[in-house]
Amino acid sequence: MNAPRPPLRSLDDALADLLARATPLARVESVSTFDADGRVLAQDQVSALQVPPQDNSSMDGYALRCADLADGAMPVSQRIPAGSAAQPLQAGTLARIFTGAPVPEGADAIVMQEDTETLVDGTVRVLRAPLPGQWIRRSGEDVTRDDAVLRAGQRLSPAEMGLAASIGLAELPVAARPRVALFSTGDELVMPGTVPPQAMKPGAIYNSNRFFLRAMLQRLGCEVSDLGIVPDQREATVQALRDASAGHDLILTSGGVSVGEEDHIKPAVQALGTLDLWQIAIKPGKPFAYGRVGAAHFIGLPGNPVSSFVTFALLVRPFLLQLQGATALTPPATRLPAHFDWPRPDKRREFLRVRRNAQGGLDLFANQSSGVLTSVVWGDGLVDKPPGSAIARGDAVSFISLSDLLA
Ligand code: AMP
Ligand code: MG
Repeated sequence: MNAPRPPLRSLDDALADLLARATPLARVESVSTFDADGRVLAQDQVSALQVPPQDNSSMDGYALRCADLADGAMPVSQRIPAGSAAQPLQAGTLARIFTGAPVPEGADAIVMQEDTETLVDGTVRVLRAPLPGQWIRRSGEDVTRDDAVLRAGQRLSPAEMGLAASIGLAELPVAARPRVALFSTGDELVMPGTVPPQAMKPGAIYNSNRFFLRAMLQRLGCEVSDLGIVPDQREATVQALRDASAGHDLILTSGGVSVGEEDHIKPAVQALGTLDLWQIAIKPGKPFAYGRVGAAHFIGLPGNPVSSFVTFALLVRPFLLQLQGATALTPPATRLPAHFDWPRPDKRREFLRVRRNAQGGLDLFANQSSGVLTSVVWGDGLVDKPPGSAIARGDAVSFISLSDLLA
């Protein structure tokens, strides 16, 4: 008779447990602002100047004082291109001005050149009077001096890089890259390029997990040591884990983490260190393990490609972001109508591969098997479905975008 099995850990519980163990690495390095994409900022960045630095024109036209506007034509007293300094505006005159040029002292509006007429004598008539303040971009309307415009823990993307440059920062302090050792387990695995498809032996499959896991790690700013494929043998697994534990913050494996005789990950981790978390009540992705080997964290992902992909996105991604001190760890979910039925729910919380359609609803990929990577390529998101609940067409369901999960 089988002993009663303890209930599987819930995803929320497992994630909270993982994050409680993900102490930020606190290694900081300085990178060129050019190279900061995807990195996590280590310190607040305070602006030493106003952006824009002074009031400037947002149009090509003429700067003027509204109270001086005459019915007839007015003389033009100076010309102010972008990048030059302006003289105070002479009373009763216009100043020729271009986009981005500083507004002269005394002027309180810009008339765009399309609303003016230049006469043969060079004087200019204003055809449509601007409102006070019109077409002037105010000093500091983007950034005020002494503002912390970027915060420690913020993940940098192209917009943040541009903002950092706009306050004069050529270098940024960021969390050092987590060092991750990656290996796949499975005697059936063959690396693409080593055996052509026609020559694959019965039972052999190409190693797909290695490719997307490495790319997902790199997108998260990790330095990846790719340790290849480890055979399904106890000793080889122990040896690979022991070797990987030196010089890495995280050892990430895929496959071999279930309960079969060919699954050696769990006993190997237990022999070398501790296994703190094993199996989660989600579908796909139940075989998931967390532990420690020496000073390194260990995470074992399922072998089935979709399970591996989904558990990486839901658990490993926030873990690695927190190691880098990031504050935003999980993307927001939105509610969208299901344009499909899911009448036979699993007891576990399910993550269904879906795609947004032109009607604003969600279509379901027909084959939800955990081995079918096509579902992830076809889909643009996951429906996060509570345990045991069915979905009927039209129900609002919780949707998480795959591009958010891959960012
Ligand atoms: P396992 O968790 O080792 O029992 O593997 C579960 C399933 O995933 C098996 O069908 C494996 O062949 C498959 N699998 C394991 N690792 C990989 C991999 N790296 N790439 C593609 N399929 C894999
Ligand atoms: Mg296996």
